[in-house]
This record gives sequence, structure tokens and C-alpha cells, in this order.
Amino acid sequence: MISIVNVAKSYGKHKVLQDIHLEVPKGHVYALIGPSGAGKSTLIRAINALESIQQGEIVVDGLQVHHKTTDINKVRANIGFVFQSFNLYPHLTALENVSIAPVKVKKVNREEAEAKAKSLLSSLGLGEKISSYPGQLSGGQQQRVAIARALAMDPKVMLFDEPTSALDPEMVKEVLDAIRHLAATGMTMVVVTHEMGFAKEICNNIVFMAEGKIVEVAPPDQFFSNPQSDRARDFLSKVLEH
Ligand code: ADP
Repeated sequence: MISIVNVAKSYGKHKVLQDIHLEVPKGHVYALIGPSGAGKSTLIRAINALESIQQGEIVVDGLQVHHKTTDINKVRANIGFVFQSFNLYPHLTALENVSIAPVKVKKVNREEAEAKAKSLLSSLGLGEKISSYPGQLSGGQQQRVAIARALAMDPKVMLFDEPTSALDPEMVKEVLDAIRHLAATGMTMVVVTHEMGFAKEICNNIVFMAEGKIVEVAPPDQFFSNPQSDRARDFLSKVLEH
């Protein structure tokens, strides 16, 4: 579903992505983990062209994301992206936030889009909040609205960039539960996360990055019990100690 071949990106002399190769099969969940500054966010953002790349190729569901003849709207219609900071429209209700893109971009009729938005919001435990504005919702509720908004476009892939990092601790679980539920439906997903227990539980593979490179890709049992590189061992000893 996602194929990343020989991708590189630099800011001046600083190589933020180097020699990146990764294949994510349909229905699989991959976690991107690693120290701050490793390039995780740059990589996940490059998958739907929120970041440019200078070398290599990224293909999502058969479409070359960074090719100059590719219609980027077509690519993004297949990819749901959930940000750390929710990024909801503050002047729209939860229902409007979730239904606006299907109406404007996909030309779905409003009634149909709103019915679907209601059903998505209910399935995420927000049935009572459809008329609330983002400012009236907790961080965890806002992030679940953001997940519903992404799902409203019927994406083939969901990308999450540190979806729980901006949340108060008591709200982390409700968002992780929503992502866990989505994984169980067979959605293809890539998640940048610092939640090691969560990554271990739901991911098919852990992708460990450091200094712009993918250092290890391994199933969680293997990665957490027997990391192959010194870099990963060092990282794990720090985060697990913490
Ligand atoms: P991570 O998500 O693993 O913490 P990022 O992908 O955010 O890492 O950043 C990778 C590196 O790229 C960091 O060293 C960061 O400072 C650098 N970087 C990111 N965006 C820019 C930018 N717009 N200009 C210069 N450097 C940047």
C-alpha cells in the first residue's frame, strides 16, 4: 500500500532523511519511533506530500506522491492525516468539521455527508458532541473529531504524527483506543509515537529511526526484546527507564 524507495531530504548540509526504504503492506500498522530530530515527522509528512523530498520515490496505492504530473488532491483523498495539534476549524462544529471535506472536495451531498459524520462521531464516542465547537471540547475529544474527519474521506491509509503528544495523560487512552479500534478494522496505518506499550501491542512492525536513517525494522516482540543495533538499545534503555 505504501512503498518508499531511496528517499532523501536535506536542509542545507543537514541530511534529515537518508537512504529511506520502507514497504507497508495493506492492512498493516507500522510505528515510527526514535529520538527527537530523527526525521520521523518529516518522513510521515512526506508520505502525503506535506513535505517535499529531494530524491527517491513514494508510492501510495499505486500513485507516485511526489511526481510532478501527479494530482496531489487525488493522493490526499486516499490518505487521512492526524496531527499532534488536532488542526480542527475553530468556527465549525464537530459535525461540520467532519462533513466539510466530503461536501467540498468529494461533492457528496450534505445530508449524506452529515449522516456519515454523525455515525463516525458516534462510533468514536462523540454522539453527544456533534454540535460542540472545538473550543468546547477536551483535547482527547478534539483529537477523536480529527480522526473522524480523516475517516470521513474513506481513506485507504491513515497517518498519525504523534497523535497523543499534546494530550493530558488522562486523555491519551481514549485516543489510543480509537486508533486501536481502527487497526482492528484492517486499516493500513503509520503512526509516529512515543507510546511504546501501544506500539508493541498494535503494530506489525516497529521502524526505528535515528539521524535521518531507518536503523531497524522488526516486529515488536523482536525489537523490544532483542534490538539489533547499539542505537536502538541505547534509545530503549532510556525510554523504558523513563
Ligand atoms: P522527529 O519527528 O524525529 O523529531 P523531524 O522530522 O521533526 O524529527 O526533524 C528532523 C530534523 O529536521 C531535525 O533536526 C529538525 O531540526 C530538522 N528540520 C525539520 N524541519 C526543518 C526546517 N523547516 N528547516 C530546517 N531544519 C528542519
